[in-house]
Amino acid sequence: MTTTAQSRQATSTDACYQRCLNIDCASTYDVSEVRTKCGVCGDLLDVVYDWSRIKTPSRLLDLESLWSKRHEPLRFSGVWRFHELLPFAPANRVITVGEGQTLLQQADFVSRYVGLRPGQLYLQYEGMNPSGSFKDNGMCAAFTHAHMVGAKRAACASTGNTSASLAMYCAVTQLMKAIIFIGSGKISYGKLSQALEYGALTVQIAGDFDDAMARVQEISKELGIYLVNSVNPFRLEGQKTVMFRVLEALRWEVPDWIVVPGGNLGNSSAFGKAFMELKELGLITRVPRLAVINAAGADTLDVLYNQRNLRWNRGRPRMETACWYYDELDKGKIKADTIASAIEINRPVNLKKCLRALDVCDGVVRKVSDQEILDAKAQVGAGGIGCEPASAASVAGAKLLRQQGVIGYEDRVVCILTGHQLKDPTATVAYHTTDQDTFEEVLGSRGVTRASYANRAIAVPNKVEDIIKAIQLYS
Ligand SMILES: *Cc1c(COP(=O)(O)O)cnc(C)c1O
Ligand SMILES: [Zn+2]
Repeated sequence: MTTTAQSRQATSTDACYQRCLNIDCASTYDVSEVRTKCGVCGDLLDVVYDWSRIKTPSRLLDLESLWSKRHEPLRFSGVWRFHELLPFAPANRVITVGEGQTLLQQADFVSRYVGLRPGQLYLQYEGMNPSGSFKDNGMCAAFTHAHMVGAKRAACASTGNTSASLAMYCAVTQLMKAIIFIGSGKISYGKLSQALEYGALTVQIAGDFDDAMARVQEISKELGIYLVNSVNPFRLEGQKTVMFRVLEALRWEVPDWIVVPGGNLGNSSAFGKAFMELKELGLITRVPRLAVINAAGADTLDVLYNQRNLRWNRGRPRMETACWYYDELDKGKIKADTIASAIEINRPVNLKKCLRALDVCDGVVRKVSDQEILDAKAQVGAGGIGCEPASAASVAGAKLLRQQGVIGYEDRVVCILTGHQLKDPTATVAYHTTDQDTFEEVLGSRGVTRASYANRAIAVPNKVEDIIKAIQLYS
């Protein structure tokens, strides 16, 4: 771990470096430095490129042909395929397990539910990643950086998917030991089972995710363990590629809307940065609008953006607004609570970067209830794709924005499905159950009162004629 005393400032000849997000500080750090915040002012760090020193494609179309070079490790990956647009690591040092080979699916069945013209709704299914969530896009980038700087241990706090992803990279490559911090009782079995089976050292803290996040930052600093949460700026570099793949699938036409669930706000921040950079490089002429969707039970961004008018403000957001709000949460002993465990976060670490993304992409923020999330999830599933609860917040949010007339009937909309359906089967089964007690136990406490799109099993006696009668009746 590099200390401040040894730290090396980036020099003017560096093509890539880290820079403090605070424009009144703007301290720079070499790429080889391991830090998750500015040593001078404590703000977040950005990975910055001097594009004039980097060979970038002159047309986005040129990136498309790289698909065909799948025998090269660099192009086999759906992330490193776009190496020219995130060139912080030498091409021969990148680590991949084949992440990011995900697809944009036109979803006409779901478009009816959302209220869009058929053909206009697309679902970017990031559940197809090797560990089952979009987190692999960022993890391969952070993991590559960790390896570049010689890390032997890597840690994260997680609501589940980050830890599953980190544990997988450690297990496949055998390059590092994974140490994961989870809150108590807040992790789905699908995700926990991955971390355990991949052999991560799993530390369960008597607290919630926000507690786990605070502890992992203190402890990784103290012990010199590499931190891979999305405060790590290199992770966000990998997550930019979700947008590159969306554009590629649309034959490089920019859609009208990108809709994404908001938890720690790493994705929304990365997407904003992707579009900023593509615009700066002259590879696109306009950016899509961005909608970030909170769960109603974890709605910090919605409160700060819509009620307290917190804005990017040309790089000088009034972050004290957030501090005051966090004090209120503490005083009221208010904890995040939603069935969408992956976004059950009240202190989003990338808040400031997300404000920049919302500014760049003329963004909006909404919140949706657990009822709306589960109904939307059931419809995504009925359309044949399936996702975990947090992911469906994007579809529920798109529906809400359609109802409000913010998204138009003809608009072309891309919803990000962040995680795989099998990550959290408890919520799915509870929604479709015939057993009222199971429904109440899992969903009732969350204000979910009905399952309008439930597909319930039918109970029949163990007799051929009864079974046939039931099938005739229901099919
Ligand atoms: C991590 C995660 C999120 C939240 O993403 P952020 O980048 O933290 O906003 C949403 N959905 C799923 C499935 C996740 O794993
Ligand atoms: Zn700073």
